[in-house]
Amino acid sequence: MAKSDFGVLIEKWLNMPLYNAESGELKPILDQVKRLTSFDGRHETYCPRCKKDAIFLLPGDAKAASWALEDENREKAMERGVVRLTDEPSMSANDPRVRRWLGPFEVVMQCTRVESHFVWLNFQLEVSTKLDKPTEGKLLKPIEIYRLTKYGQWPSLVDFHLHQMDGLADAFSEVNVKEWKRSLMTQAHGFNVAACVHLRRMFESLLLEARDSVDGGTHKDKEWPDFDGAPTPERVRLLASELPPFIVEHPELYGVLSKGVHQLTEQECFRELPVLQQCMRLIAEQRIDKRRRAKNEEETKKLLAEAASRLGRRS
Ligand SMILES: [Zn+2]
Repeated sequence: MAKSDFGVLIEKWLNMPLYNAESGELKPILDQVKRLTSFDGRHETYCPRCKKDAIFLLPGDAKAASWALEDENREKAMERGVVRLTDEPSMSANDPRVRRWLGPFEVVMQCTRVESHFVWLNFQLEVSTKLDKPTEGKLLKPIEIYRLTKYGQWPSLVDFHLHQMDGLADAFSEVNVKEWKRSLMTQAHGFNVAACVHLRRMFESLLLEARDSVDGGTHKDKEWPDFDGAPTPERVRLLASELPPFIVEHPELYGVLSKGVHQLTEQECFRELPVLQQCMRLIAEQRIDKRRRAKNEEETKKLLAEAASRLGRRS
């Protein structure tokens, strides 16, 4: 595994929600676990306690678990209680090749900015050996399947996710900040469709806010048939002067959000959510930027008016 692949794997495991097991063929994951738990290197990621990116060391603590994963050490590890080997009680219990191996392991990362900042990730790796489907004239082959479950993380995944809002919460109303927070929290707990629902509610709420202020506020609290009966892309067009440019220039954003709510699976939403969250951050930045420019313009106008008035009195 190349060095950069470790970074991808660490990020994947950092962002894996608790108790959402993934499973598959054993060989590649066992290789990753062994290498990562014995990885003597550095990884740059966000430190929730420094509240900024930091270089993390992966120190020796993880190596005890790595040692237990080596085939030749498995028996000794079982004696120490690091891993357990049990009989598979359900299918083919009489076959000695059918067994289950359980192993907890921990990945520990230490922040290099402040020595007392650690990140702990706890996993349970279950390996079951099952017999392949019987095919006529062929012997049954045992296949090893893994099931990897993250059962612990500190600081929590929510602490890692909420930092996405750092410096940007002022961009939105209180209601929308709550929606954004809920989206990040539900995402951290593995409820990815729900996280999309909260982002879509935010999007719709931004349109309604813009409806109240567009055309000098003339449509506020009144019926506006052209808008009220229109599909979302048309609504965005009518509100273009009030909306952040990113929403106006990318009507597909609403389409993706709606698909996430109505059609996509949890896994598909999990894949798309980082992009959707990034869109929300960009929208927040554009809103803050617009407000800052308006304030600057207002202040500059005032100063110019004062200067003009001073000079006017002299002439
Ligand atoms: Zn730190």
